[in-house]
Amino acid sequence: MPRAQLTFLTDELNKLREQKLYQRLRILEGEQLPVSRFDGREVINLSSNNYLGLTTHPKLRRRAIEAIERYGVGSGAVRTIAGTMTVHMALEEKIAKFKNVEAAVVFQSGFTANAGTVQAILGKEDVIVSDELNHASIIDGCRLSRAEIKVFPHKDLDACEKVLQEIAARPGRKLLVTDGVFSMEGDIAPLPALVELAERYGAIMMIDDAHSSGVLGRNGRGTVDHFDLHGRVDIQVGTLSKAVGALGGYVCSTRDTIDFLYHRARPFLFSTSHPPSVAASCLAAFEVLEEEPQLIQRLWDNTNFFKEGLKRLGFDTGMSETPITPVIVGDVALAHQFSRDLFEAGVFAQSIGFPTVPKGKARIRTIVTATHTRDELSRALHILETGAKKLRII
Ligand SMILES: *Cc1c(COP(=O)(O)O)cnc(C)c1O
Repeated sequence: MPRAQLTFLTDELNKLREQKLYQRLRILEGEQLPVSRFDGREVINLSSNNYLGLTTHPKLRRRAIEAIERYGVGSGAVRTIAGTMTVHMALEEKIAKFKNVEAAVVFQSGFTANAGTVQAILGKEDVIVSDELNHASIIDGCRLSRAEIKVFPHKDLDACEKVLQEIAARPGRKLLVTDGVFSMEGDIAPLPALVELAERYGAIMMIDDAHSSGVLGRNGRGTVDHFDLHGRVDIQVGTLSKAVGALGGYVCSTRDTIDFLYHRARPFLFSTSHPPSVAASCLAAFEVLEEEPQLIQRLWDNTNFFKEGLKRLGFDTGMSETPITPVIVGDVALAHQFSRDLFEAGVFAQSIGFPTVPKGKARIRTIVTATHTRDELSRALHILETGAKKLRII
């Protein structure tokens, strides 16, 4: 039934259709696997963030089922009222120990962890210095904080220092914030240099390790561990929704910072905590990270194999140095066409255009996992080659 006051949204959608930017949701029929069934078609799945295959790991499944049987399916309240269960506290302790920090707090998602933390710790008299490719959840947190936001070009350390110099004499706190691994480029933040800048100019240093948790560092401890910068990054955010295989986000910092977030982070105060089964799955995932380091080894072996294959075929893979490898084609309509052709031929690699990536930098994004076989990756490379030649991308 059309509603007059909502037809402007229909007009907006029609504009997207005209520009060939309209996208239907792809429906996954079954489990999230290296070869999965989407929209009735069996495809090699290069689009999930399920880096280690933990979404279907037997130990995580078993713990979730046990937790449901013991505690039920919901927590029934926000953390600050009646919704803190022993399993939530056990997970926070596990994460703090794993990350070698004083304390950790778990949020409902990585998105709420970023947005809730930045908003809670800063106010309108403060300044945020932020890499231009930082994730949307950091940007939203910055906006909600009402602090002034100074964006520097991607990984441009000179530009970053210039901003820090300009604001050095201003009252108010400064926050320097970066993704650890950038989600669209797959490159790694220059964290050692950023940490030095933060220390020199007295800024709080914060990193979002969503794509580094379970991927970089010993047993997947993240970017801080990868660069051996323990004790020098004030706030580490991570996700439990990607390599960890379930859902959630966490913040690691000093005991008092975490205690402050317990009192002031709005998603923590005003949105219900995880079902116990989710917390139990995440706890099991950290055990798996410690017990099965071969998963991370396989992830990196597959990454190197696939990346070299793409380069050999002459694809532009940008600045990637992690399992996220973009295949940059430039034109957004071409990227969508390429992605559709690949899907028909048996490879699911999502196309991404403006505003998620800059205009003229449209791409398909590939992510390999530990659980892909060499045969699957070789077949995917072959399908990419055939599709790209047809569209004259290579
Ligand atoms: C995915 C992602 C998030 C959000 O994590 P969720 O747990 O999915 O909410 C935050 N930051 C970055 C860089 C991400 O890639």
